[in-house]
Amino acid sequence: MYQKAWQLITRSHYITLISHVNPDGDALGSSLSLYPILKDMGKKVSIVNVTTPLPIRYDFLPNYDKIKNTLPSRVDLLISFDCGSYDRLGIAPLDVPLINIDHHITNTRYGTLNLIDAHEPSASSVVLKLLHENAIPLRRDVATCIYAALAEDTGFFSYENVTAHAFGIAAELIRAKADPVTIAKNLKERNSLAKLRLEALTIDKLHLIYHAMVGYAVLTLEDFAATGALRSDSDACVDIIRSLATVELAILLIEEHDGFKVSLRSKGEVDVSQIALSLGGGGHKRAAGFTVKSKNREEIIEKIMEKAGIEAYE
Ligand code: 5GP
Ligand code: MN
Repeated sequence: MYQKAWQLITRSHYITLISHVNPDGDALGSSLSLYPILKDMGKKVSIVNVTTPLPIRYDFLPNYDKIKNTLPSRVDLLISFDCGSYDRLGIAPLDVPLINIDHHITNTRYGTLNLIDAHEPSASSVVLKLLHENAIPLRRDVATCIYAALAEDTGFFSYENVTAHAFGIAAELIRAKADPVTIAKNLKERNSLAKLRLEALTIDKLHLIYHAMVGYAVLTLEDFAATGALRSDSDACVDIIRSLATVELAILLIEEHDGFKVSLRSKGEVDVSQIALSLGGGGHKRAAGFTVKSKNREEIIEKIMEKAGIEAYE
């Protein structure tokens, strides 16, 4: 499959690299990681993410400035990264071959070729596997993107997906001159005051239910306006809720114009990927999400509790 994918890439000329809406470090890092390699092969390459504005904290990644929010006029091959379902790319269906590079257990296998490995800690490590299988040498700019994506998706080497394999990949990337200190500084120590204020507000608005084993907060459009925070500034808010000692299941509702984006986190007891899947989304066992076209918060929380079989805790 990995060789087949490379043959398809070799045969194609106009290649678009695309990642999921509201991208995280893995989405952007993994899509950026192939860019310099394909350029060197003489391909016409575009990098697309439909979200505006893009989260600024990834601006140190090589070629971040090349990311556009619309598709180019010609596409022969689409490669998607870190995206569990086609709708999350935010584009209409395209009648071209698609290579789906991902590590979500809930991936719907929407590609012509699906390079999906739920054992890999990040989509970027699936990209690394693609490079290995085709004997493509690692270069520094590529290693930087793959490492940044890996670091973010493993919670800086602290989540369940951290294994000897993940550290092996990290070591290989550092040998290829990815700089872990600079990458960590760029990702973790450039917060805006607005982001910190939004995080403080999340703590202020925290509700604890079911013996404080479930924590949830709702961030409204007004909260974003009041703090001056951008949507991407809410990325860590749900992790803050989970960090409370008693919390097993953390829920964050982020208001959108026509409903809510819901983020779910677990400490391992509850499989949130299954909850998200049953509510139209997807993700991993300990981090998942979905969107709802309803503004009824109580009903949304109740539905999540029901799917989680939370009564068992009482
Ligand atoms: P987050 O809560 O940070 O947005 O997402 C957590 C995880 O769940 C990520 O791996 C993300 O890709 C996945 N995820 C979040 N929302 C959705 C969704 O609406 N659909 C699918 N398929 N996956 C989602
Ligand atoms: Mn990922």
